[in-house]
Amino acid sequence: MVKKLVIIGGGFAGLRFLYNVKKHLKDNFEITLIDERKTSLEKPSLPEVAMEGKSVSKVQIPFEKIMKRGNAKFVNRSVVKISPEDQRIELDNGESISYDYLLIAAGAVKDYNAIEGFNEYGYSVCDDVQAPRLWERLKSFNGGRVVIGSAKTEWSNETQIPLAAPCEGPIGEIMFMVDHFLRENNLREKSSINVFTPGEIFFEDVGEPVHNNLKPLIEKNGISVVTKKEISKIEAQKVRFKDGSEMESDLSIIIPPYRGPEFVKASDVGDEFGFISTDNEMRHLKYRNIFVAGDVNNLSMPKLGHIAILQADIAFTSLRSEITGIREIKPFEPEIFCIMNRGGSEATLILSDSLFGGKHDITLTGQVAHLMKWGFDSYYYYTRGHMPPEAVQTRMEEFMKK
Ligand SMILES: Cc1cc2nc3c(=O)[nH]c(=O)nc-3n(C[C@H](O)[C@H](O)[C@H](O)COP(=O)(O)OP(=O)(O)OC[C@H]3O[C@@H](n4cnc5c(N)ncnc54)[C@H](O)[C@@H]3O)c2cc1C
Repeated sequence: MVKKLVIIGGGFAGLRFLYNVKKHLKDNFEITLIDERKTSLEKPSLPEVAMEGKSVSKVQIPFEKIMKRGNAKFVNRSVVKISPEDQRIELDNGESISYDYLLIAAGAVKDYNAIEGFNEYGYSVCDDVQAPRLWERLKSFNGGRVVIGSAKTEWSNETQIPLAAPCEGPIGEIMFMVDHFLRENNLREKSSINVFTPGEIFFEDVGEPVHNNLKPLIEKNGISVVTKKEISKIEAQKVRFKDGSEMESDLSIIIPPYRGPEFVKASDVGDEFGFISTDNEMRHLKYRNIFVAGDVNNLSMPKLGHIAILQADIAFTSLRSEITGIREIKPFEPEIFCIMNRGGSEATLILSDSLFGGKHDITLTGQVAHLMKWGFDSYYYYTRGHMPPEAVQTRMEEFMKK
């Protein structure tokens, strides 16, 4: 019998899961994707919108196009509550949708409002409103003091790796790309770039070899970094910290704290911050027909697209094993894989698993890394949210680990 499968969220995790089910289990399910947006947002390209003026339409993939082919229905509404006992999802228009299986892939909320003064004086890159807004500001920037940093995110005791900043890669991109922008526009001499992190160290999710490789790049570009700084307020020309210290600032670019989606808290399916715990098959600990993948999952740390994809694959193989009776479930072997643009044609690729007990802490810096990022982002955009073939990723990792 055909079952009802609902996916909440069409980001990295939701699309990966959707495409897998459509390809391998399409006769088993009637699929519905719910997303409150009209387009899937390719977040790793947002720094290029913010600091290189890339068109925002080039990071938005319309759901209409994603859903065109195949047997899935798209519902453009916001989920307000799930009733897991009744297997129903309530939408913001009062309607509800029932399911046999559910994937929650609703990502994390970037809580700009949690930072006093952000809306008046702060800038960011985390979505398709903030990124073009920063580009507009940069275009009229005449040099000055630039402050860049992450706010501290709070976690429940269900989060096993409670990083102070759940995704610091974009901070690395912003500082190098702003540096590049200022140099290109002859503004670097009259500008300073000060970076802060709430963590004990900058990039606390990777090991010493990566720090050792990044340090000379940061120093060479005259960027200063301070640690253990928790932002409390942004003013017109100042960033204030909880320890009473402050930094003079003419341009404050901040990654806000993360929290889980509101409907998770309203539905009592997650912790007090709206993140959800699962087992290693990405199944909800109590409601076994609910899968959770991506930033909203407590196991997802740091909050990365690469980890969202790994989790979506595990959730898919777990669902498939239930349908086919063949138990072949991908193991959860998290790793950090991200490419940081550094402006122009330079980038740094980081492959690291030391946070999870592994022994790899590899960086690849230069134009090849830049080309790889361009290749990945273009592939994702032009194939409407497909990842490059798995063999490409596997070969690349094997090569780097040699
Ligand atoms: C600026 C920036 C740069 C980044 N760069 C990289 C990078 O280079 N590499 C990397 O691996 N990761 C990167 N990341 C992290 C990566 O983007 C995230 O980890 C990834 O997007 C998480 O995927 P997801 O599917 O969990 O959530 P998302 O991609 O956030 O998707 C969640 C979806 O759920 C929908 N949704 C949310 N709430 C509701 C609701 N109530 N009802 C209906 N729909 C809802 C949203 O509209 C959204 O479409 C970056 C992040 C940022 C902010």
